[in-house]
Amino acid sequence: MMMQGLNITKSGKICMGEIYNCCENPQITYLAPVNININERTIGSVDVWRCGVCKKKFCEEKQLGIDSITDIVGMPRIGDDEKWGVIVSKLQKGKEKWKLVRLKQNGIIKYETADEKILELKIDNYKIVDDFHTSFLIEDHLNRAVEI
Ligand SMILES: [Zn+2]
Repeated sequence: MMMQGLNITKSGKICMGEIYNCCENPQITYLAPVNININERTIGSVDVWRCGVCKKKFCEEKQLGIDSITDIVGMPRIGDDEKWGVIVSKLQKGKEKWKLVRLKQNGIIKYETADEKILELKIDNYKIVDDFHTSFLIEDHLNRAVEI
């Protein structure tokens, strides 16, 4: 179990630091991983953490072979109206094929492709609706591997 970017106090509790508090007295613990597979091989994963007080979830994207790609110290912020999801691109291969995102229930998400183009993808009920992209919610796949 990795805990990069987190401060662990002697009591074993994990502090959020000064970056972001989800609630007044956050108690963040590791919840579960979600593995990302291509042809039954795990190419990456999403680590899911949860605050025991407000139940908010936090996710960290892990590409295989890279310890941490996030430049955010502590847990990334997520809005009350957003859920953690993964966008899967049918146009890309390998590690470029997926990306951890925050999905609103409805609307448009700006999605940066591997070649740095910005696409505007439509979201309908926390799911991407697009010919070349699909998505799934992290909360539906805890402790599982998802074939993309
Ligand atoms: Zn909290």
